Amino acid sequence: MMDAGRHPNITLLTYSEVEDVSGYIGNFTVRVRKKARSVREEVCTGCGICQEKCPVKVVDTGFEAGMGKRKAIYRPFAQAIPNVPVIDRENCLWFTKGRCRACEKLCPAGAIDYEQQDQILELKVGAIVVATGFAMWDPRKLPQYSYGLSPNIITGLQFERLTSAGGPTGGEILTAEGKKPERVAIIHCVGSRDVNAHPYCSRICCMYSLKHAHQVREKTGAEVYEFYMDMRAFGKAYEEFYERVQEDGVIFVRGRGAEVEVLPNGKLRVKGEDANLGRLVFVDVDMVILATAIEPQPDADRVAALFRLGRTPDGWFAEAHPKLRPVETATAGIFLAGACQGPRDIPDTVAHAEAAAMEVVKLFNLGEVVISPTVAVVNEAACVGCGECILACPYSAIARNIRGKAEVNPALCQGCGTCAATCPSHAITALHFTDQEIVAQIDGLLERAML
Ligand SMILES: Cc1cc2nc3c(=O)[nH]c(=O)nc-3n(C[C@H](O)[C@H](O)[C@H](O)COP(=O)(O)OP(=O)(O)OC[C@H]3O[C@@H](n4cnc5c(N)ncnc54)[C@H](O)[C@@H]3O)c2cc1C
Repeated sequence: MMDAGRHPNITLLTYSEVEDVSGYIGNFTVRVRKKARSVREEVCTGCGICQEKCPVKVVDTGFEAGMGKRKAIYRPFAQAIPNVPVIDRENCLWFTKGRCRACEKLCPAGAIDYEQQDQILELKVGAIVVATGFAMWDPRKLPQYSYGLSPNIITGLQFERLTSAGGPTGGEILTAEGKKPERVAIIHCVGSRDVNAHPYCSRICCMYSLKHAHQVREKTGAEVYEFYMDMRAFGKAYEEFYERVQEDGVIFVRGRGAEVEVLPNGKLRVKGEDANLGRLVFVDVDMVILATAIEPQPDADRVAALFRLGRTPDGWFAEAHPKLRPVETATAGIFLAGACQGPRDIPDTVAHAEAAAMEVVKLFNLGEVVISPTVAVVNEAACVGCGECILACPYSAIARNIRGKAEVNPALCQGCGTCAATCPSHAITALHFTDQEIVAQIDGLLERAML
């Protein structure tokens, strides 16, 4: 991130959102809203005095996953680039009650700007890489895990904050009562591989749960019970790590942790099935870590519509071909990188992102774009200009020309044939898929079948 921030050929637009995308491969126009931070980036030195002195504390449901607090002026996460805070206008006393202005008074650089407005930027780009990642699934949706009923039932992401040196306990693994846990349960597949939540495997949870088990053993010496259906240690050296965690003394229970009960004394009872022993097991623990599913971002619909991306049945962004074109999308010049396309860990994300970057380099090095010959063409004489094809085209490849007739942009058209099937005047043909060609192919097949 730091390297990207310093690179002369990279402009980072943080705290910004894409609002509109038009154009086509080699010639996109992207409208970006750069949101007002209420802090001037070019003046702020990142000294942090404003955050220290701000009197407002709010629970940080973002980076701290609800495990810690932040101020109303804050740096969104520890390694943020640029190292410039933002004022949360919904909680700042000046914006909500018209008083305070402590940050402005104390900022030695004079960087606070309460009047700052959002900026709209228009960028001309040749290619786009979408890398919007994943969201955490909310375990409250399956009440049998009792998430939210005890502060000692936490998600894997919350555990990451607990064990981080920059987290709320300075990296110590402590229960909500401030004590080292003596017994910890880790439950795999919470919301994954479950028809009541997400049927797919979230792919990253087995390995991060093994990491968590190792960290608990190392930092607290607590007994760790790991409830799992089967261990998916698929990557390089992952199986060896699984063996090492077994040697750490972690107790593996093969079976889904079915239920967590909060006992009157505050302890947590995990009920599950040990498939190897063929019987139910009950374990009383001080802390439960739920390895919750990951899912597409909540605004994936909006992002898909903006960039004309397809979605898989699970909601992830769809690649052009799962084996042969894993970073391309159905829209030429728009690529995918990382977990927005499906669950993946960091090594796989890095490989996927490098592949996407190389696709862009390849495109720019060629200097010209090879488009498929199977695009739609309009017979203007037959077109009545009704516009049905414009509405039907999933790639926004059709517009009306100055004569009011439909015109296909071959750089955008993917040859799907939707317009040809929709046109009530039969004025559109998908090249190389004309009715005559298809009928001739069927005739040919039937002739062979009759022999
Ligand atoms: C609890 C937990 C522990 C893990 N531990 C490990 C581990 O030990 N090792 C490992 O290899 N992997 C681990 N992973 C997996 C790892 O987090 C992912 O592989 C990785 O984060 C995927 O990277 P990404 O860039 O695709 O997505 P993300 O990390 O999700 O990044 C996406 C970025 O896009 C931004 N964004 C989203 N939408 C928009 C938008 N509309 N406009 C602008 N920006 C947007 C987000 O704010 C975010 O910064 C863990 C995951 C979890 C949940």
